[in-house]
Amino acid sequence: MIYCSYPQAQYEKYKSEIDTAIQKVLSNGHYILGKEVEAFEEEFASWLGAKHAIGVNSGTDALFLAMKAYDICSGDEVIAPSFTALPTVSAVGMTGATPVLVDVDKDYYTIDPTAVEAAITSRTKAIIAVHLYGQVAHMEKIRQLAHQHKIVLIEDCAQAHGATFKEHKAGVLADISCFSFYPTKNLGALGDGGAIVVNDSQVATKLQQLRQYGWDENRIAHCQGYNSRLDEVQATVLRVKLSLMDSFSKRRTQLADVYDKSLSDLPIVLPSRRNDSNHAFHLYVIQVEQRSKLYEYLKDKGILAGIHYPQACHQMPKYAGKDAIKTDLHITEGLTERVISLPLYPELSDKDQRFIVDSLRSFYIN
Ligand SMILES: *Cc1c(COP(=O)(O)O)cnc(C)c1O
Repeated sequence: MIYCSYPQAQYEKYKSEIDTAIQKVLSNGHYILGKEVEAFEEEFASWLGAKHAIGVNSGTDALFLAMKAYDICSGDEVIAPSFTALPTVSAVGMTGATPVLVDVDKDYYTIDPTAVEAAITSRTKAIIAVHLYGQVAHMEKIRQLAHQHKIVLIEDCAQAHGATFKEHKAGVLADISCFSFYPTKNLGALGDGGAIVVNDSQVATKLQQLRQYGWDENRIAHCQGYNSRLDEVQATVLRVKLSLMDSFSKRRTQLADVYDKSLSDLPIVLPSRRNDSNHAFHLYVIQVEQRSKLYEYLKDKGILAGIHYPQACHQMPKYAGKDAIKTDLHITEGLTERVISLPLYPELSDKDQRFIVDSLRSFYIN
C-alpha cells in the first residue's frame, strides 16, 4: 500500500543517525528539558531567523500556551479558519475563548482577510492564520488588520515547516508562531512534540513558565502553569531531522512539480501557489468532482489517498452549536466535498509517484 504520508520510511532511511542520537540520550540519564531540548530550541530558532523557540508537548499545546501568554481567556474571541485541522480550533476552546470561524480563500485555501476584517469585534483578542497544506496565508493584509485593531496575530505553522514568504520563513511572520512535530509533519518527531516561536523576550520567558507549572528558573511559580514539556529523545530526533530539512523540502517541491506537470490536462483542480511565497507541500491536495469514486479506485490499486478534511470544524457537533461563532462558510463547505490528498513525503520514490500518476490518469482516460 502507498500511504499519503509514511514517517517510517524516513526513520528507516536515517536509522543509524537516529538510533545513535537516541542511544546517546538514553545513556545520558536526563530525559526531559535538558541539553538536547536547549540545543534544538537554539537551532530551530536560528533556522527560522527568530529569537526564541520554546519546545512543548504538541502543536495543540503550542497554540494553547501562545494564547495563554497573551492572557486570552473566557469572554474573548479568537478568529480562525473553519477549514483547518481541528486542533487549531480546539486550542482556542482550551483557553475558554470563543472561536469565530471564518471562510478561506477559494484558490489558496487559507484564511480570507476580508472575512477576518468583517469578523472583528471589540472582544477579538487574536487571529490565527493557518498555513494550510504548507501554503503561506495572506499575511500582509492580515498583519495590517491585526496591527490596526491591536489584535495578536498567531501563525499556525503546523503544516508549514520550511515554507517561505518573500525572504522570510513561516514562523517569523506574526507576533507568535506555533509548530507541531507530530510524526507526519514536514519536521516530524517519533512521538508528540511542538514549539512556540517568538521574538519578544518577555513573552518567551512567560512561555517557559507556562510549560512547566508556572515555575521560574528557581522553581517559584509566577502564573497558572501547565505541564507541556518536550523530551530529550524527541529533541535529539528533531535535531537530526532539522539538519536534513532543506533536502526534505526540496524533495517535496520536486514531487509537487511532477504532479503539477503530469496531471495538468485532467479535469481536476491542482493546488495554486502564491507567487510571493514557497509552498511547503505538507500535503498535495487536488479538487475533484467524483471524490469517493476516485478514492476507492485508487485504494483498489494500492494507493491510500487522504481527505483533509471531510468535515470543517463548524460542521462537527462540538462546534456546530454555541461553542463557536459562525460566519459565511460556503467556500469551506464546498471544499470539504471535493478535496483529496495524493501521497507526498520526501521518501516517496519516483517509481511509486509514476504509478500514482498513471493510476489517476487511467481513472479519467480510458
Ligand atoms: C497537526 C496540526 C496541529 C496540532 O498539532 P499536534 O501536534 O497534533 O497537537 C495544529 N494545527 C494544524 C494546522 C495541524 O496540522
